[in-house]
Amino acid sequence: MAFVNLNPIPKSVLAIGAHPDDVEFNCFGTLAKWSKFGSNIQIAIMTDGSKGTWNENEDLKQLVKTRKKEQISAAELIGSSVYFLDYVDGELEHKRSTVGQVTKLIRQTKPEVIITHDPFKKYRLHPDHRNCGMIVFDAVVAARDPHFFKELNLKHHRSNKMLLFEQEETDHLEVISDYIEIKVNALLKHVSQYESTMDITDKKDVQQIDKFYKWIQEIANSAGSSIKQPAESFKLIENI
Ligand SMILES: [Zn+2]
Repeated sequence: MAFVNLNPIPKSVLAIGAHPDDVEFNCFGTLAKWSKFGSNIQIAIMTDGSKGTWNENEDLKQLVKTRKKEQISAAELIGSSVYFLDYVDGELEHKRSTVGQVTKLIRQTKPEVIITHDPFKKYRLHPDHRNCGMIVFDAVVAARDPHFFKELNLKHHRSNKMLLFEQEETDHLEVISDYIEIKVNALLKHVSQYESTMDITDKKDVQQIDKFYKWIQEIANSAGSSIKQPAESFKLIENI
């Protein structure tokens, strides 16, 4: 049986996704809920999203710009700022310099709760999702101890909890009954991803948009089936 809803809600949250739209797909309902009750939400995106198209002739520089704008518009729905770390999509490496960048971000933003990809999801194909999780794990440890990355000249910061999405094991649910619509609206800001990830070929086709809405609702209903409420599901790590 999973725990339901962090109580009290965290005062500050940093959600770190490998690509633009990963945060929206996996935890935006939760972020919207916490934001409504006063949490300070910040979002970081590790890569530039430059592989996110099926069009072989796409202008990739333009795509990167477009995806940043889309990500910012989505985050604005909950008044969140976005940090772009700008690593090349598909080439995110789990190495010291990258861990240093995320350590810096954690020490600067001082989140109580950090949300990211579970790096231990079995048979996870996408390297950026796996590597993002590993990088954040290492950065959480480095950020909390004063002798790691002294060259940053930033005071160490210990976050309190991690929530992992796309998790191998679920032990935590956040109910998002009132936040499905804002989650869908945030996802719909990612217009460049309509065809490849949302199965929307015509953005003016109301039926396609409606089908997408229902799909997101079904995912939430399924995640919260044990409590009969729509939810987002996570692996919770406490006392980090
Ligand atoms: Zn992704």
